[in-house]
Amino acid sequence: MTFTEVDGVEGDAGDFKVVLKTRPRYITEDKCTGCGTCVEYCPVSYPDKFNQGISQNKAVHVYFSQAIPLVAYIDESCLYLKEKKCDICRGVCQADAIDFRQRPKKTEINVGAIILAVGIEPFDPRVNDEYGYGRFANVVTSMDYERLLSSTGPYEGQVLRHSDKKHPKKIAWIQCVGSRRMTPGENSYCSGVCCTYTQKQVILTKDHDATVECTVFHNDIRAFGKDFERYFQRAENLPGTRFIRSYVSLDRELPESKNVVIRYSTFADGVKEEAFDMVVLAVGLNPPAQVKELAAKFQIELNHHGFSPSSGVNPVATNRPGIFVSGAFQGPTDIPESVFTASGAGSQCGELLDYRRGKLTRERVYPEERDVSGEEPRIGVFVCHCGANISSVVNVPETVAYALTLPGVVYAKQQLFSCATNSAREITDLAREKGLNRVVIAACSPRTLEPLFRDTLREAGLNQYYCDMANIREHCSWVHAKQKDEATAKARDIVRMSVARTRHLEPLQEFDLAVNKAALVVGGGLAGMTCALSIAAQGHPVYLVEKEKELGGVARRLARTLEGLDVQSHLRDLIRRVYQNPLIQISHEARILSVTGYVGNFITTIKSEGRVKAVEHGASVLAIGAQEYQPQEYLYGENDQVFTHLELGEAIARGDERVTQAASLVLIQCVGCRNEERNYCSRVCCSHALKNALHLKELNPEMAIYIIFRDMRSYGLREDFYREAAERGVMFIRYEPGGEPLVEAVSEGGASRLRVTVPDPVLGKCLELDVDVVSLAAAVLPAADTKEIAGLFKVTLSPDNFFKEAHVKLKPVEFAADGVYLCGTAHYPKHFQETINQAYGAAGRVLTLLANDTVTASGSVCEVREDDCVSCGACITACTYDAITFVETLKGRKARVNPVLCKGDGLCNAKCPTHAIVLKHFTDQEIISQIDAAISRDEIMQQIAAAI
Ligand SMILES: Cc1cc2nc3c(=O)[nH]c(=O)nc-3n(C[C@H](O)[C@H](O)[C@H](O)COP(=O)(O)OP(=O)(O)OC[C@H]3O[C@@H](n4cnc5c(N)ncnc54)[C@H](O)[C@@H]3O)c2cc1C
Ligand code: SF4
Ligand code: SF4
Repeated sequence: MTFTEVDGVEGDAGDFKVVLKTRPRYITEDKCTGCGTCVEYCPVSYPDKFNQGISQNKAVHVYFSQAIPLVAYIDESCLYLKEKKCDICRGVCQADAIDFRQRPKKTEINVGAIILAVGIEPFDPRVNDEYGYGRFANVVTSMDYERLLSSTGPYEGQVLRHSDKKHPKKIAWIQCVGSRRMTPGENSYCSGVCCTYTQKQVILTKDHDATVECTVFHNDIRAFGKDFERYFQRAENLPGTRFIRSYVSLDRELPESKNVVIRYSTFADGVKEEAFDMVVLAVGLNPPAQVKELAAKFQIELNHHGFSPSSGVNPVATNRPGIFVSGAFQGPTDIPESVFTASGAGSQCGELLDYRRGKLTRERVYPEERDVSGEEPRIGVFVCHCGANISSVVNVPETVAYALTLPGVVYAKQQLFSCATNSAREITDLAREKGLNRVVIAACSPRTLEPLFRDTLREAGLNQYYCDMANIREHCSWVHAKQKDEATAKARDIVRMSVARTRHLEPLQEFDLAVNKAALVVGGGLAGMTCALSIAAQGHPVYLVEKEKELGGVARRLARTLEGLDVQSHLRDLIRRVYQNPLIQISHEARILSVTGYVGNFITTIKSEGRVKAVEHGASVLAIGAQEYQPQEYLYGENDQVFTHLELGEAIARGDERVTQAASLVLIQCVGCRNEERNYCSRVCCSHALKNALHLKELNPEMAIYIIFRDMRSYGLREDFYREAAERGVMFIRYEPGGEPLVEAVSEGGASRLRVTVPDPVLGKCLELDVDVVSLAAAVLPAADTKEIAGLFKVTLSPDNFFKEAHVKLKPVEFAADGVYLCGTAHYPKHFQETINQAYGAAGRVLTLLANDTVTASGSVCEVREDDCVSCGACITACTYDAITFVETLKGRKARVNPVLCKGDGLCNAKCPTHAIVLKHFTDQEIISQIDAAISRDEIMQQIAAAI
């Protein structure tokens, strides 16, 4: 329901009455075809909100080119709505979709739970004149810049200056705009995402034009996420790119060139001035503008920043039972976290509403499949513009006309977005109307959209495997953006090849497999226990496997979090609930010996407390956590005054006077990571240092505390604690790689002390600090068993040896192996709340699987022609999924593929010496016809002749 807001909420968890108010579009949704004729004729032009007001749009328009639904709407600038004049759109709309009689509509719905996913808004730099936004023509926000970079943006992907529409050759980014500031109207917290999105913008700018000089003025670089450190290095190492650590001011605009002069200072060179063609303000994230009204409407509390306050133990819950939050409304977060908090919120709704599961679902019924095997191919080709992604490079009408000349093609058509709901429906309708029996979609990668297009064929009563996608985006328009004619020629080739293959496609059947309703959770730490409880709360048995004697993991060693949560009391409660849950079966001192089976039907053998047992389960969650690095440096292990931060926290908690009564203490950050061997940030240790420092200041305000750091990565709302630590007198000293501090044991008046020597760039000299205690931010390493567990569950590891998720942004709790999920620090170091969020997220994904009675196995799998099999076993060795085994047949020992385990990757059939294995949907005939269509025999002969 678009154009709709919540007007009021009454009731309680399990039974809410919600009044929705839908604004009029003045367009009848069912009738509008999204053709855009009305937009063409509308005489009113005004700044386009979607493109940040940089380009113009019309009073009637589709909000953006991939909008769902792809239906126009008329806004308040319309002449008819204002003055009853004009009415042109009504005259030109062929679908008779314009309806000025529409009025706001109220609807009441009854729901059991509510998820607030109201997100964030970019900070508006107009609140502070010093940013020059709106004053200097060529100062833009990062959101403006996102639109400039986009192919559906104001200049179709060209980055142009506002003042003269020229390409800027020298661009500066200014970080922390609206964030980490105490100025009225700005936010004290760190927005967490802008360091990395700026690096992305630099990389994309260089992709657009490698000659552009890019300069980023920053404070700390907060590359705290998985792979962020490498991403930063990639941006930093691009030629013509500078990252300068400095506060800046936007000084003035040069009257003639409209270039912007920035003043900045560095320790090495003092104050400098430099002019840039364009300046991008890396704006932070605000809570939604109407957040107070929203909170009042839903009767939920907000924290002083305007985000949903977390109780600490359940960041997805609000103070009002039945109302949950997901995404950046929890506080600034990036996409992966938003995705898993969404899944987590879904899981919590599931916990609440489990008793009604399945009551409102309706099974989708497809028309009966038509047998077309005896028919001549009648192929339909649909060529997608993908907004301007394809059509700004490839000549789409020409490609459509060419497709119509190909053998077997009886119909061809262009579409603005083939993946839009109405376009998919159009493919179904046309397949029926034109009697098509095969379809080629010339669009983007099949990776994400093939299931959608297959579905359109099922809706048309055709076997879904009669569909092929010709990738003319990633394989063509994106890589040949500057060679339009050649790209169009290549698009023709790709379409021709696809049509040739499609002629030979065969109908394949998928089959349903029963799902075992139990889950296995490996690891009984915070993540594993939270996940197990959420799954069990929805009626599923859980086998929880823990390597140690006790549950709890690393959290057993933490007294409290930076935000003040009493970790031990939460842990006690969690462990109690796990033990009391009759659906959770715990194995202590357990080791996994083997894992067989497939999604929905795994068998895992576990050795626990000396006994071996096999458990059957439909899903597996890997939550084996992480471990602390044992430092080899800074006298750790040699001098008992040197601790790790984790040990320091434990010493504080048990009141160890060596620590609590110390006169002075140094905390050294980034020990054992952010180096060549471990090129990642351990994410939690900056906050860990702040937590320990603040706790010690509370106990002993006189203690001299120094934090020697590289970048303080107190991202998000943790920034407030960084400020508090500075206010309480904690001293921060920055060091650069190569300038690591030196720690020596010294004796002073008979007392042993530690001398820490560190170059101070601010003072330009070496500082010598004689202190009682040194604490090291020891890196977080993957758990010792990570490789073994990865091998057993056939999942992969990322370069830093943490588990690798299926998709870094969109599938952050899934593995590529179906039915296996991950959460907690086994994925990457993360904070307590982040771990809880991800654990609920993983539970959500598990429930999505276990809620079904069956899973569907693909029809595109390998099959052995037993007559040709010489039982050499080459295929068995090649298969990474253990999908092939020997079976005894009347003709002897033959290889046989278990279609459920087969992933159709084709490794086995490439190895088979007798070509006995067929990979269905990628048969030799299909592939060879595609190759033959790529280049004719005559052309090959001509090329050979030319070469000799
Ligand atoms: C050094 C360090 C400092 C930290 N400081 C803070 C902080 O100040 N604030 C904060 O919010 N967060 C901090 N964290 C993060 C916090 O500990 C985590 O967010 C949280 O505890 C992770 O929970 P987990 O369940 O993923 O991992 P863990 O707690 O490590 O639990 C994993 C469990 O799996 C078990 N296991 C391992 N291998 C196997 C196997 N093969 N089979 C079965 N079981 C297995 C382990 O024994 C353990 O019980 C810190 C983490 C570390 C490592
Ligand atoms: S430090 Fe934080 S607020 Fe500043 S740019 Fe980086 S992520 Fe954004
Ligand atoms: S101390 Fe830890 S969190 Fe901070 S920058 Fe270093 S590795 Fe990252």
